[in-house]
Amino acid sequence: MNPFTYTRTADTDDAIAICSREGAMFLAGGTNMMDLMKEGVNTPSQLVDIRKLPEKQIVTRDDGSIRIGATATNSDVAYYPLIKERYQVLSEAILAGASAQLRNMATVGGNLMQRTRCPYFHEVAFACNKRQPGTGCSAYNGFNRMNAILGGSEHCIAAHPSDMCVALAALDAVVQTRSASGERSIPITDFHLLPGDTPHLETALSHGELIAAVDLPVISKNARSHYLKVRDRTSYAFALVSAAVVLEINDGVINYARVALGGVGTKPWRSYEAEQVLMGASANEETFTAAANAAMQQAQPRQFNAFKVELATATLKETLEIVASMAS
Ligand code: SF4
Repeated sequence: MNPFTYTRTADTDDAIAICSREGAMFLAGGTNMMDLMKEGVNTPSQLVDIRKLPEKQIVTRDDGSIRIGATATNSDVAYYPLIKERYQVLSEAILAGASAQLRNMATVGGNLMQRTRCPYFHEVAFACNKRQPGTGCSAYNGFNRMNAILGGSEHCIAAHPSDMCVALAALDAVVQTRSASGERSIPITDFHLLPGDTPHLETALSHGELIAAVDLPVISKNARSHYLKVRDRTSYAFALVSAAVVLEINDGVINYARVALGGVGTKPWRSYEAEQVLMGASANEETFTAAANAAMQQAQPRQFNAFKVELATATLKETLEIVASMAS
């Protein structure tokens, strides 16, 4: 591991100022950062520990929306009463990820910054455009079973690993940031970047920009939601595919639909194609089949991950059926 300095501060402006220096990185729960440092993938010259910052509260606001402080732990979010009750898809997604111990350490901000589990990215002996731009992509013609089928490019097909972010995409969450130049609101769908020809650029954040909070907009009391994750084993595994669905159904007609997929995209994958099929349609098997097929229209599987097309189609269809049954 490279030598680095460690700084802990309870002052947000201090943290931003220190982390604006070249080579400095924020440290929150450390559940991903420590692995990446041990592997030699992340090599910060300075770590700024932000766990003592005030941004850890979860607050229900007067209009019913929720603000989640960026250093709130994943467990705190999953068990927050209003999130369990009304934003069920988020609670379920978080509890489907990692282990209880990791969820107690990992933070919401850290989860947003979680990096891919593409094995070639984590093994520095292999060429990887994301880790070292311009070296090539070992996964493109390599063992790509866990890689993405949506949103990839010839330069990178790494799947985004987060469960939480898939649910946030289905909830139209907004990421609030602070930096030396001020505050910004970034819709979750704009927060993660497609790889294109710059796969090393993964988020819309600039260097030294701190994730302060995540806002969950008001959700209708009549909306129902669910997160379904399919993986190689029943716990402590990343998604082969997953689906986050929010539906509101009135008299058998879908008047609100949000669909996001995990395990298949290079970013948490919002499926506008599926939503277009669902909105205004009857909540029945024919509609759900059409929506699931639409979600996979743009899929571009590689040699070892073609199974994800059928698996994601079936997973999304089943999730839609589950949510519809909750709504009726
Ligand atoms: Fe690296 Fe992306 Fe290729 Fe994986 S898919 S080897 S992360 S460039």
